[in-house]
Amino acid sequence: MALDSTSVIIETMQSSFLKWRDFSLDDRISVLKNIKEKLLQNKRDYAYAITTDMNKPIKLAIAEVEKCAYLCDYYIENAAQFLEDQEVKTGWGKSYITFRPLGVLLGVMPWNFPFWQVFRFVIPSLLTGNVFVVKHASNVPLSAKALEDVFNVDTIDFPIYKDLSIKSSEVANVIANPIIKAVSLTGSEHAGRSVAETAGKHLKKCVLELGGSNAFIVLNDADLNCAAEKAVNARMQNAGQSCIASKRFLIHEAVYNQFVDLFKQKLSTLILGDKYDETVTFGSMAREDLAVELENQLEKSVAKGATIIAGGKRNRAFFEPTLVTNVTVDMPVFAEETFGPLAAIIPFKTIDEAIELSNKSNFGLGASIFTDNPQQLDNYLHLFDEGALFINEMIVSDPHLPFGGIKNSGYGRELSHFALYEFANIQTVVIK
Ligand code: NAP
Repeated sequence: MALDSTSVIIETMQSSFLKWRDFSLDDRISVLKNIKEKLLQNKRDYAYAITTDMNKPIKLAIAEVEKCAYLCDYYIENAAQFLEDQEVKTGWGKSYITFRPLGVLLGVMPWNFPFWQVFRFVIPSLLTGNVFVVKHASNVPLSAKALEDVFNVDTIDFPIYKDLSIKSSEVANVIANPIIKAVSLTGSEHAGRSVAETAGKHLKKCVLELGGSNAFIVLNDADLNCAAEKAVNARMQNAGQSCIASKRFLIHEAVYNQFVDLFKQKLSTLILGDKYDETVTFGSMAREDLAVELENQLEKSVAKGATIIAGGKRNRAFFEPTLVTNVTVDMPVFAEETFGPLAAIIPFKTIDEAIELSNKSNFGLGASIFTDNPQQLDNYLHLFDEGALFINEMIVSDPHLPFGGIKNSGYGRELSHFALYEFANIQTVVIK
């Protein structure tokens, strides 16, 4: 889109902000209810857009749209409590903290969960009183337009969300626009650094949700059957294209062979086939170049001594569910983020060693630990460099809980009550 039409959209959104800012929270919540209804009424059309854009099996695309509605419900129920003014006792007559919006926010969004990522960013901050322009990933144009449609509800006569069909090279100019007050990017480290640099230059708030290389740790007392089932889902969901997917599987040496056999067996529970077939659960990756990148990481690792024990083959954008053993920490399948259906499996002897391996990553999004005796972890959990720890469960993003990482996984938090404050002016008011 030409720069001037982008500027015109941004100016329109500033007018929208001045109106939306004056809505009471109750009125904003009413609009959110309309958005949720529209989402559910059209869920099949929206899911079709997701599936067509990035090959996610339609069953999972419908689930993604439904999860967005679930997120709306969470904020419809809880926003009033989260955004209530907070009175504070001081030496003055009255003091309180109140939450004001910032203005027009920019979202730079990825293709892997084209609806969920946008909802996660937009909904809490919409209730705070902000409005949005979004640069979506270039390979999800149908989803980008569908999202603009979702937010265009009959009960308001001005836009609160506009899609900017711009190239990534134009993002810096949008951040520089004085109307834009802050930016949130979900995507790669490379994009995160670029957006943070521009945001820093213009002194604008920035939230970054970047990559991950989560460890999935199985201790020797774990329920192996359950852990192997979770492992398949944690790694293979969305054809492995999830920031919070478990990518490195650290298995206690006493149960290593048994777990690996079970993991391999349970890959057969994935249902492969046509992406529009509602029974299918595993499909092609979003683009052929992404599958080629994964293939390169695998080939370089095999050249260093890794062994493929399941899958490993690529046909255009389709990459077989793949398990790799004999992995060492210097191999790309361990040291880099693998954004596809490939699990690197490595044995360990002690919990200390497992934690050291888990932390041996530039990322810090989350780790899962499987054990029959979670109490034994009490003295260890503080040693993990992660934004989230899930015991006997795969990492998921849930509206009730804050979501975000440390290290190169980014900074800031989405979801829960924390999300409402990321793009708020937390204002102190003192009345003497
Ligand atoms: P990406 O290439 O970084 O793209 C994400 C978005 O950033 C797209 O809209 C992209 O636009 C834009 N972009 C790319 N380079 C940019 C730049 N230099 N300046 C400004 N914008 C830029 O990432 P992706 O391939 O879509 O997504 C995969 C990555 O996202 C993985 O690392 C994954 O772990 C991470 N991710 C993280 C989370 C989380 O919550 N932590 C969630 C999902 C994904 P174009 O499409 O036009 O290039």
